[in-house]
Amino acid sequence: MNFVTCSYKNEEFVGIENSGYITAVNDILAAAEEKNICSMLELIDAFSLDSGLYTRLERTDLSRFNSLSPREVQLKAPIPYPRRNIFCLGKNYAAHANEVQATKLSGSGIPTSPVYFTKTAMPALEHGGEIRFYASATQQVDYEAELAVIIGKQGINIRPEDAKEYIFGYTILNDVSARDLQVKHEQWFKGKNLDTFCPMGPVIVYKNDIPFPAQLDITCHVNGILRQNDNTKSFIFDLPYIISDLSKGLTLYPGDIISTGTPAGVGAGAKPPRFLNDGDKVECTIEKIGTLTNIVKVIY
Ligand code: MG
Repeated sequence: MNFVTCSYKNEEFVGIENSGYITAVNDILAAAEEKNICSMLELIDAFSLDSGLYTRLERTDLSRFNSLSPREVQLKAPIPYPRRNIFCLGKNYAAHANEVQATKLSGSGIPTSPVYFTKTAMPALEHGGEIRFYASATQQVDYEAELAVIIGKQGINIRPEDAKEYIFGYTILNDVSARDLQVKHEQWFKGKNLDTFCPMGPVIVYKNDIPFPAQLDITCHVNGILRQNDNTKSFIFDLPYIISDLSKGLTLYPGDIISTGTPAGVGAGAKPPRFLNDGDKVECTIEKIGTLTNIVKVIY
């Protein structure tokens, strides 16, 4: 089941996407005289409290309800305003760790423990939205296609063998990065956190639809040219390890997002480096989830 956040006539709602058409979750809940859900975070909370909700939604005959075409709604990021920063992994594919070792971005090769940093989303950028940045702020903007995991249940000190039950679903995240700022400021925070630098979506795929641990093809195309091409089975740290390690002494909450790192092929790793320019079209694709497309807009 694919979940989306959309707005229709300026009202935001959570929908189930099926073959491109969108059914409002609240239409289904209203017909069953159940409580309204106003956001994706509320839906994830409701799933964590009510183990039967998924089954009731899954068994619903969607043809009984009005559906909206993508042209009628404005798609938002699935979680436009996460409750806290997105947890991100740097260097979780060996080939990517090697390609950035030659740059000034990072020098220590293959990590022996996950490299964590965080990313803000105020808001996360929707599929189709513009990655807008000021030429006065950065000249070296790069893409990073990543699988993002949405946490569905509160937990601390989670065992690797229990990790699956703490997942709500999966989406695509483009960890857009200003390489010059990453190098200049040493710590990555600023270079990862300019406005619009967190495209996410277009959907959250519920965990039942993706075998665990996820082994999914992941690509990034810029203007139709393949730049990144790998599979999440190449992770240095797999999902059970990441969820277990991150949750050691750190409570994870429903709605938390973990972005699992990017494969080789980023612009900074090319010789010579090739960064994003005004008008570029960036398409991050993950098998079984879809394609997250954004256009670059440089403000001069
Ligand atoms: Mg990244």
